[in-house]
Amino acid sequence: MKTLWAPWRMEYILSNQKGGDCIFCPGTDRGKDKERLILYLGSLSMVMMNRFPYTNGHLLISPVRHVADLESLSEEETIDLAIMVRRSVGVLRKLIGPEGFNVGLNLGRSAGAGVEEHLHYHIVPRWNGDTNYITVLGEVRVIPEHIEETYHKLFPYFQRPKFQFGGNK
Ligand SMILES: [Zn+2]
Repeated sequence: MKTLWAPWRMEYILSNQKGGDCIFCPGTDRGKDKERLILYLGSLSMVMMNRFPYTNGHLLISPVRHVADLESLSEEETIDLAIMVRRSVGVLRKLIGPEGFNVGLNLGRSAGAGVEEHLHYHIVPRWNGDTNYITVLGEVRVIPEHIEETYHKLFPYFQRPKFQFGGNK
């Protein structure tokens, strides 16, 4: 049986794309948000697309504060992250129609975290047989839909004050 949930492969690439700045810290330069594939930046949490996704629509949700452990989060941050996880799953379900999701955290390097200093949830949309059509080239998976295309599709749904679950609003 193959392990299907292996986001640490992507994390490896993520952590090696550039040295220096933490990719999960929003910083002060808002002009780079699109380039960084940031979908949402609130006062407590941030949602971005994984540039090296496991499947199309692979999202990363992190606290704005640079913290490594769940225990370091305030109650407000914990709740805000949970709300953004819920919202992200809702947006993905509505817009790209996956058949399932993997939602999880890799805490610490031994658990597979590539960027262990700044905790982040992975949300990976799944389809039956998705590992069959996604080609593996070395460590990089080729995703059928262009990442920018998915970004522009998802973006407006993260700008609304409230995402409507169900219905068409
Ligand atoms: Zn950080």
